[in-house]
Amino acid sequence: MAKIVILGGGFGGVVAAERLAQQLGEDHQITLVSRSRQFVFYPALVRLAFEKSRPADVSFDLRHTMLDRRVNFIEAEVAHVDPFERSITIANGQFEGRVPYDYLVFALGRRLATERITGFYEHAHHLLNVDKAISFGKAVNKFHEGRAVFGQCPGARLPVPVYESAFALARRLEEKGERERVRITVVSPTTLESEIVDPAGAAALKKALEAHQIEFLPNLSIHSLTQDSAVTKSGEAIDFDLLMLVPPFRGSPAASYLGTTDEEGYIHVNSTMRVAGLERVYAVGDCVNFDGPKMGHMAVRQAEVAASNLAAEIEGRAPVSHYRHEMRFVIDEIGTGSLYLHKDLATDEPATVRQGYFWSWAKRVHEKYWEVSHS
Ligand SMILES: Cc1cc2nc3c(=O)[nH]c(=O)nc-3n(C[C@H](O)[C@H](O)[C@H](O)COP(=O)(O)OP(=O)(O)OC[C@H]3O[C@@H](n4cnc5c(N)ncnc54)[C@H](O)[C@@H]3O)c2cc1C
Repeated sequence: MAKIVILGGGFGGVVAAERLAQQLGEDHQITLVSRSRQFVFYPALVRLAFEKSRPADVSFDLRHTMLDRRVNFIEAEVAHVDPFERSITIANGQFEGRVPYDYLVFALGRRLATERITGFYEHAHHLLNVDKAISFGKAVNKFHEGRAVFGQCPGARLPVPVYESAFALARRLEEKGERERVRITVVSPTTLESEIVDPAGAAALKKALEAHQIEFLPNLSIHSLTQDSAVTKSGEAIDFDLLMLVPPFRGSPAASYLGTTDEEGYIHVNSTMRVAGLERVYAVGDCVNFDGPKMGHMAVRQAEVAASNLAAEIEGRAPVSHYRHEMRFVIDEIGTGSLYLHKDLATDEPATVRQGYFWSWAKRVHEKYWEVSHS
């Protein structure tokens, strides 16, 4: 019998647990540890902020779902990982102390490094958790004129909600007849082509932004914030009345215990999702060091690969699955400008780009599918 411990109850951890439960016999013990029993479906947080869904629609209770799949769930904080003793230490939860493992899947996501932008905490909204999305939504409700600024800080790895928020605000103001009173700006530390990773995708997005009179300002690295102004590294000031930024990302603090991270704290893994230089440890999701945006579908695919290879390792077989780094997303413009993009990040082949209302609908169907299949 093998004891498998999975850290993190996000896309990566949940899918790894589900797949292992499917692939391993009942004699093996699978335990999932996460600080909250709530799984949050992050791609729906823009819709939550704009009151198109409710908190209950974007989360589900992990304990219940995991039990259904014969996975033990522990609600607690992961305080320490010892990959040589093969144990983790958990605190502040239903159970405290050391938990030994035979195999580990690390899926603790990323850290929001808000401290890297002076004034972020006081002056910026973000929507990277349920409470923050709701509080951003309240600010949107009070906003009727002036300038709204959206963007990624340097080191942020998540363009989708930036554009979706700008489109959602434009649509809301258009419906209320208030659009003329508001200037909407998207700022980026790079260019649209780099942010979207493909020229055709960038051109399609640019057209959609222009259709809503949303201006795009490239190459602005936000460095600090005051109450009404975002100041860039080169000293330019961008005034705002409403500000939503994706803060810089860094690796999970607990990843440092594995002793094999890059300078931003992301874990080195190979294509089988095994952690470099460590035995019996896999890592998946936002915590690993692949290039480009950090996305839920990547975490899901990495978890599937890790689960297949871990099951093979337990049974004494060679790895059976390899991860291919691809990017696939929908930017929901809530209409015909909605954009689907798929690109293989390992090649120079152009992306597949599609645009139309279908993709807005498809994104919501996908959200419903997750909710129904996990609650
Ligand atoms: C607003 C928004 C919109 C997005 N839109 C899209 C989209 O359209 N398409 C897409 O593909 N992706 C999207 N993403 C990105 C996607 O949500 C992430 O890439 C994905 O959640 C990563 O999954 P993960 O399992 O690696 O990490 P997470 O989902 O962050 O899960 C990590 C888990 O570990 C837990 N945890 C962390 N540290 C500890 C600790 N010390 N102890 C115990 N538990 C801990 C956390 O509570 C969490 O449950 C979006 C994200 C956001 C925020």
